[in-house]
Amino acid sequence: MQKIRIALVGVGKIARDQHIPALLQNPGFELVAAVSLMDEQVGVPHFATVAELLRSAAVVDAVVICTPPQVRFDIARQVLQQGLHVMLEKPPAPRLTEVQALVALAKAQGVALFAAWHCREAAGVEPARQWLASRALQRVNISWKEDVRVWHPGQAWIWQPGGMGVFDPGINALSIITRILPDRLVLRDANLVFPSNCHAPIRAQLSMVSSAGVEVVADLDFEHRGEPCWDIVCESDTATLQLSEGGAVLQIGEQAPVRGPDVEYPRLYRRFAQLVRDCTVDVDTTPLELVADAFLCGRRATAPAFIEDQGISG
Ligand code: NAP
Repeated sequence: MQKIRIALVGVGKIARDQHIPALLQNPGFELVAAVSLMDEQVGVPHFATVAELLRSAAVVDAVVICTPPQVRFDIARQVLQQGLHVMLEKPPAPRLTEVQALVALAKAQGVALFAAWHCREAAGVEPARQWLASRALQRVNISWKEDVRVWHPGQAWIWQPGGMGVFDPGINALSIITRILPDRLVLRDANLVFPSNCHAPIRAQLSMVSSAGVEVVADLDFEHRGEPCWDIVCESDTATLQLSEGGAVLQIGEQAPVRGPDVEYPRLYRRFAQLVRDCTVDVDTTPLELVADAFLCGRRATAPAFIEDQGISG
C-alpha cells in the first residue's frame, strides 16, 4: 500500500515529543515536509508558511497541524481547499464555528478530517469505558492540576484569546470523561479565575451533570506546585474506578493499579490512516462545547498578574 505523505505544520513541543516519533514508527506514513515560523530542521524540506508549501513541488497527501489553536483554521482551510487530508491537534480550534466550517469543507472536498483527542487513546480509557457501561455511576471527581511554568515554558499563546489557559490541559480531562460516560454532559456552573494580564483562566472549577443525573465536578489548576495530578475518580454502586496520569493508569476497587503502555499517538496515527483510506470525517466537539459553555456562563474572578519568570506578582 502506498505511504501517506505527511507535512507537519508547527514544529514545537508536541510535534517533536510525539508526532515525529509516531510517524517514523508507522510504516503507513512518510514525513515529507515541515512548516514552521522558525527555521526548524527535522530532516525534511522546510517551508515558512503553508501557502509556500502548497505552491512548492512537494507532493503531500495529508497535513498534520500542531500549531497553537488560534492559527489552525486558516491553515486547515487552505489545506482542505487543495483537497488534502487534515489531522488537527487538540483542541481542534478555539471557535466552534471554525470547526463546523472545516467539517463542512472536508465533506465537500471528500477528504479526511480528524480532530485528535490524544488522551482518549490512553491505555486505561477504553477499559474504563467498558467497565462503567454496566455500572450505576453516582459521582465523578476530576482533578487536573499542573504547573504551567514546568509544562508550558515560554508558551505565551496559552494566555492569549483562544489559548484557553488552564483548559489547554483541562480539555484533555473533558475529552476522557465525554468518552467514558455513557450519556451526555451538561455544564451547570463554572468559576473561572483570570490573571489580570491574561485573556485565559489560570484556574477553573466546573460543575456538570449527565443526562442520567450523575454529578461531575472538575477542579483545574495551572499553578499547582509539585507533582502534577491528572486524575478522574468515578464512584459507582459497586466500586470506585480511578484513572490517573492522564488515563495511563487504571485502578478498579481494591485491585492493584494497572499501568498500560504509552500508545496514544501510535493509536491516533492508526486511526488517521483509516480515515484517509476512507476519506471520512472524525470530529467530536463535545469537550470543546463544555469549555465554550464555561466561557459563556461561568463566573469570573481576577487574580494577580501572571509573570512566567518571576512567579505570581501582585
Ligand atoms: P509549542 O511548543 O508552542 O509549539 C507550537 C509550534 O507552532 C511552534 O513551533 C510555533 O512556532 C508553531 N507555529 C505557530 N504559529 C504557526 C504558524 N502560523 N505556522 C506554522 N507554525 C506555527 O506548543 P505545543 O506544546 O507543541 O502545543 C501545540 C498544540 O498541541 C496545542 O494546541 C496543545 O494543546 C497541543 N498539545 C500539546 C501537548 C504538550 O505536551 N505540549 C500535548 C498534546 C497536545 P514558533 O515557535 O516559531 O512560534
